[in-house]
Amino acid sequence: MQIETFIANAPKVELHVHLEGAIPARTLLKLAQKNNIALPVRTLEEVKDWYQFRDFPDFNEKYILISNCIQNSDDIYLIGKEFLEGQAAQHIVHSEVTYTAYTHTKQWRIPMLEQISALMEASRWAEQYLGVSMRLIIDIARETAPHEGTLVAKAAVAGMAQGVVALGLGGYEVGYPPGRFVEAFELAREAGLPRILHAGETAGASSIRQALEVGDPLRIGHGVRCLEDADLVAGLRERQIPLEVCPTSNVCLGLVPDMFHHPLPRLLQENLFVTINSDDPALFSTSLIQEYTRIQQTFDYSISDLQKLMVNGVHASFLSQERKSSLVQEIDILAAREN
Ligand SMILES: [Zn+2]
Repeated sequence: MQIETFIANAPKVELHVHLEGAIPARTLLKLAQKNNIALPVRTLEEVKDWYQFRDFPDFNEKYILISNCIQNSDDIYLIGKEFLEGQAAQHIVHSEVTYTAYTHTKQWRIPMLEQISALMEASRWAEQYLGVSMRLIIDIARETAPHEGTLVAKAAVAGMAQGVVALGLGGYEVGYPPGRFVEAFELAREAGLPRILHAGETAGASSIRQALEVGDPLRIGHGVRCLEDADLVAGLRERQIPLEVCPTSNVCLGLVPDMFHHPLPRLLQENLFVTINSDDPALFSTSLIQEYTRIQQTFDYSISDLQKLMVNGVHASFLSQERKSSLVQEIDILAAREN
């Protein structure tokens, strides 16, 4: 009971969550209807079945269909606002959200900066009324053409003044190495915009090595497959590069057969910098609270184990040093009380 209270009440930070993957099913159906988008599903029950994924390509195909239901800035403001209400309800006080603006530019010609503005307007609303904040990681989908990736990097750099904190790279790793986007990463680097790359999810350790080499990332999305290479593990440990681990996502996309086989305990034994995240909570039927609850139940973690993971999330974020210290202090006080 105390552990549940701790998970629910601790002020949490989430670093790896895709906005388009966080749209609740009822909102998705509403948007599809309003915008006349033909989805292969019409009811909440059907959406639930549709959210079973054979593999990453199957997931990706559905993700694009979901993304296409967003047609204008009002839709974007709405999903941003709903997302932040959901985060606030879980006491996630700060979220660094990955958003694939270019999909919506390509499909519906919504300028990327207009999308960023709509989301930051939602963030300002949430800061004022809910006391939670959001910053943006504008990502390049790996399947994007390199010159389009450069356009994304330019928009992300232009959005820095509004609340973009990093340039991301997401999507299917196999066949789409990060080297395709050297120009985009270079552009971000010159502008002082950090990079955060998905790697070591759908491909192995060599994909993480490439991500480190080409993108010089501040954090790695997933990274769980680093365990395939002991030298790489040693390097990640030495540099303490945060890994954004998303346990349920790894089960849903077939990286591991079930939660008991998740490599989280091994990552921690190796003294890697691990953070816990939900990835695409609506699609994987999870939430950050669920993630903490599932790993606690599966691996019998104590409050202090979870406390360490939560504090890692705070430290790996773009929050100010002052804000980090006060959040860590709050988490420590709660942990001491519930222990
Ligand atoms: Zn992701």
